[in-house]
Amino acid sequence: MPEGTESESRKLLRRLRDLMAEESKGQERLDKIVHLTADSMKTEVCSIYLFRDEDTLELCATEGLKAEAVHQTRMRIGEGLVGRVARHGNIVNTANAPQAPGFRYMAETGEEIYSSFLGVPIQRLGEMLGVLVVQSKQAREFTADEVYALEVVAMVLAEMTELGAFVGEGAALSARHTQPFLIRGITGQEGAAEGHVWLHEPRVVVTNPIADDPHRELERLKEAVDKLRIGVDEMLEGAMGGDAEQLEVLQAYRMFANSRSWMRRMEEDIARGLSAEAAVEKEQSAARTRLGQVPDAYLRERLHDLDDLSNRLLRILTGQGAVTGAEMPEDPILIARNIGPGELLEYGRGLKGIVLEEGSVGSHAAIVARALAIPLVLQAKRVTTEALNGNHIMVDGDQGVVHLRPDDNVVAAFRDKMAMLHKAQERYSSIRDKPAETLCGKIISLHMNAGLMADLPSLESSAAEGVGLFRTELQFLIRNQMPRRTELAQIYSGVLDAAKGKRVVFRTLDIGSDKVLPYMKATDEPNPALGWRAIRVALDRPGVMRMQLQALLRAANGRPLAVMFPFIAQYSEYEQARAEMDKALERERILGHPLPSKLEVGAMLETPSLAFAPNAFFEEVEFLSIGGNDLKQFFFAADRENERVRRRYDTLNTSFLTFIEMIIARCDSTGTQVSFCGEDAGRPIEAICLAAMGLRTLSMRPASIGPVKHLLRRTNLDELREVIDAERRAGAESVRAAVMEYLRTH
Ligand code: PEP
Ligand code: MG
Repeated sequence: MPEGTESESRKLLRRLRDLMAEESKGQERLDKIVHLTADSMKTEVCSIYLFRDEDTLELCATEGLKAEAVHQTRMRIGEGLVGRVARHGNIVNTANAPQAPGFRYMAETGEEIYSSFLGVPIQRLGEMLGVLVVQSKQAREFTADEVYALEVVAMVLAEMTELGAFVGEGAALSARHTQPFLIRGITGQEGAAEGHVWLHEPRVVVTNPIADDPHRELERLKEAVDKLRIGVDEMLEGAMGGDAEQLEVLQAYRMFANSRSWMRRMEEDIARGLSAEAAVEKEQSAARTRLGQVPDAYLRERLHDLDDLSNRLLRILTGQGAVTGAEMPEDPILIARNIGPGELLEYGRGLKGIVLEEGSVGSHAAIVARALAIPLVLQAKRVTTEALNGNHIMVDGDQGVVHLRPDDNVVAAFRDKMAMLHKAQERYSSIRDKPAETLCGKIISLHMNAGLMADLPSLESSAAEGVGLFRTELQFLIRNQMPRRTELAQIYSGVLDAAKGKRVVFRTLDIGSDKVLPYMKATDEPNPALGWRAIRVALDRPGVMRMQLQALLRAANGRPLAVMFPFIAQYSEYEQARAEMDKALERERILGHPLPSKLEVGAMLETPSLAFAPNAFFEEVEFLSIGGNDLKQFFFAADRENERVRRRYDTLNTSFLTFIEMIIARCDSTGTQVSFCGEDAGRPIEAICLAAMGLRTLSMRPASIGPVKHLLRRTNLDELREVIDAERRAGAESVRAAVMEYLRTH
């Protein structure tokens, strides 16, 4: 770097810092910055464009273009050269702007006389805030040093925007994080919540982007990088021999942490006048831009690693830990890119809502959120960059929508909705102790689904008759190693204690497909949902199932016990699993442990094939539970995890209802108990239709019991069945429209 340029850019930064220290209003500050930048860079024009909303940029200050254009000239992202810079975060540097691809002439600015154009993104931690431009009449490309100088100004601008330095006049000038922001994600768990943002990983705030003493900054950087390297090495040591994926991530961390070129670029940034933390951020933004455009998924994954590493380094430098000492706000709504099930459990029921930037419906975090009945929105794009700790936020889990910093209209509408939900809850609690008896006198038995000890209090509050499905995989998923038998026995025993004699159906471990144990070697399967999962794993590697069955028998300790096996596709699988249970019983008997006073062994009907099993199966199995989530995905060949298809087929499709009718008929003919425990059991309309088809036991999330019971008590199942049958005879694809019409008119 030539000595002269170095001092020029340092001089520019110093002037910029003095300017920022002056008392002035938002617009005035921006005006001074463009003036100063044009003057220092000896260009006729300098302009600042900031995002007005997610895809519109607005000219917010200019030196050299027509003053009337300020706050008038706007462009969409991708439009014109400025829009091009904003779209990908790439620099545009051209001697002949009108000839450059994408150029769009803005008559009101008077820019036609300027030939050369240099535009750089204003961005912070991967968030695009705007574009900074210089233009001049002389047709020339800007030198690398000039580009660099402008980038540094943009970087300081970004920091200052974050700190709210331009708040004051005009909406476009408010800091990004003060405007309302709407995010459409997907539903993870229904329910509505209002509260305040609590960031799982708080943003780092850099208050000193410009520094006077480069030697001191270099030292600070070196010390911080040393600490970082030691930390990464320690993590690596701790992870040796463990999970391969975690190791891979840590190895990538180490590679980045030891990268000479990364270090060299940051040293150069400091030499030009940036503080150590500003240098880290600048390289983080640049790397994001570079890697973000790489089509390779593996490399993009590494982008996260590099981000995490830069965040660690920033935390070391600023002293702002992951724990900032900030107090959790009232009614906290947790915001995270993603979160593990264990961490989520630690937060527990204190959270009012959860919003994740990533995550899928079947992810462990989603399972835990559901168990805790906390409204959850997944795949909420940009939420971690947009939300600040303490921000007002409203989460609509039903629609998968998040209102961040909502305006008054949204707040009023949302509160109306919450009040309605609350009223409905009151209505449900008034029928809490009444049976789910229909108008035609049929009584439907309502049970709840559970998976954690934390679920059990709902047994009392919802007045469920029992636990129709206790998913046992969570105890396996939230640990770093296989739980021990004694541990499991203790948990299961606690569940039975809490159930106070109500029936609990334990489902044996259902892993594979979307539920992968961190400590079990993952198998790469082309179609995991159709792959080696649930009972298939249990029968091929019976060790874990044997341990679990023993834990269940010990937990029962002479009390009644109900156990069912997941994903049974044919009779012989049930027989083999049942034989394991018999062996376990025999072992307990020999050891002198008490045997359950009553043992029921059942199967989940989750594959169409089992509905066609021989009569002998239906005679032998003690009860069946229809796992509608899986059964429906196989019936329609539509992946329940795939957003593109998972809502494509209606549960009230006549073919599916006819299939359910057939299963019930087979169970009736052999006197086999049958229930339904998929998500549809908890949807009131679906639930009454399932009951109309003949199901008398439904198991659902505890929060669904009230709404389902309420509707059942107002329905005549015989009439509803006539409506369904008439639709089937008429050849309808789904009975939904007719059922809704029937409900509306009755
Ligand atoms: C089902 O498949 O319907 C079911 C209840 O099991 P899971 O959702 O745990 O696969
Ligand atoms: Mg299932």
